[in-house]
Amino acid sequence: MRDDNCIFCKIANGDIPTNSIYEDDDFRVILDASPATKGHSLIIPKEHYKDMYEIDEKVAAKAMSLAKKLTVHMTDKLGCDGFNILQNNREVAGQTVFHFHMHLIPRYNDGKSILTWGHEEFSDDEMKAICENLRQ
Ligand code: AMP
Ligand code: ZN
Repeated sequence: MRDDNCIFCKIANGDIPTNSIYEDDDFRVILDASPATKGHSLIIPKEHYKDMYEIDEKVAAKAMSLAKKLTVHMTDKLGCDGFNILQNNREVAGQTVFHFHMHLIPRYNDGKSILTWGHEEFSDDEMKAICENLRQ
């Protein structure tokens, strides 16, 4: 399914020209228009899935497999020193475009920090309760 009002549907399916670095039957990979670092790219499925909650499991698996290949390829081409793979779901988590995408962010030994978060404290009992709640 595609959504006529979704910019990433249009980009992924070639209706809007963009800086595309890869395409196959399921995905297009483009340069992010506001890159965090040189080469910052987005893996975008051609079908519309809002986020990780909605994406088909098989498409999600293919996206991760593609991320693996591009991490190696882009590191080779860019000469970067490391890589972040990032994927935001829902507004509270920083998602701004509501069509599933994965960020491929090359990292360089330049001291630049792009991801930071604080740390919450939980008691041993709280950690145990969280663990019991989540264990499957
Ligand atoms: P997120 O915050 O995870 O939803 O990420 C959305 C990303 O899409 C941001 O990094 C934007 O810079 C990028 N972006 C939004 N519109 C475009 C566009 N038309 N072409 C390329 N990148 C875009
Ligand atoms: Zn879409």
